[in-house]
Amino acid sequence: MNKNIVVAIDGYSSCGKSTLAKALAKKLHFIYIDSGAMYRAVTLYFLRNQTDLNNHDLIIDALEHIDLNFHSRDYQSHILLNGEEVSEEIRQMPVSDNVSKIASIKEVRQAMVKQQQKMGKTKNMVMDGRDIGTVVFPDAQVKLFMTADPKIRAERRFKELSEKGEEVSLEEIFENIARRDYIDTTREESPLVRAKDAIILDNTNLSEEEQLAFAMEQLTPFLDKI
Ligand code: C5P
Repeated sequence: MNKNIVVAIDGYSSCGKSTLAKALAKKLHFIYIDSGAMYRAVTLYFLRNQTDLNNHDLIIDALEHIDLNFHSRDYQSHILLNGEEVSEEIRQMPVSDNVSKIASIKEVRQAMVKQQQKMGKTKNMVMDGRDIGTVVFPDAQVKLFMTADPKIRAERRFKELSEKGEEVSLEEIFENIARRDYIDTTREESPLVRAKDAIILDNTNLSEEEQLAFAMEQLTPFLDKI
């Protein structure tokens, strides 16, 4: 039997990783897993419980009370936090403002990576995040590293959140993205870095169709194995 295929997509915040990952999963009939949603859901748990986010001992102890599950509908990834669907709430600013801090804690990462590796053992999948090609699936057949102009990224995210009715300014989003990129690239534990064998995809001037076509080209050598 052929080994299952994993497509690892990493990159900076709000680069359109999940848009590409979902499109690829849909086209190839792969499973899509949004690893960022896991860090966001954990963060939401702590915010709801008013946990002191500087108290790592409390956070580490509480991890065993957090149960995360995905269910997939129309290639959208829905996440359940202790049985409750929280896919919308984890996108809101309170979570965005705190998630990178939580994601920099070693024990949090270890717990998430363990679950992610389990999910990618047997199924063809696309997973996006910050450490997928470097730590979670270093043997992934295809690795993409996404980047885009920070201003364009902020504008895209602003449009997305405004359409959902969230009241947030462009400046706030720009700052949030810059801060998350800073924390994600400078943290000690598995920082965001391009895997040596990852292909760079700068989508500043690409449409969604163009970036999908680019990614499909990288996948071509593996398609006959599906
Ligand atoms: O992908 P998304 O922007 O939703 O991720 C939210 C945050 O979760 C990132 O800014 C990063 O701090 C963290 N993250 C991570 N490792 C991953 C995925 C996300 O540290 N694999």
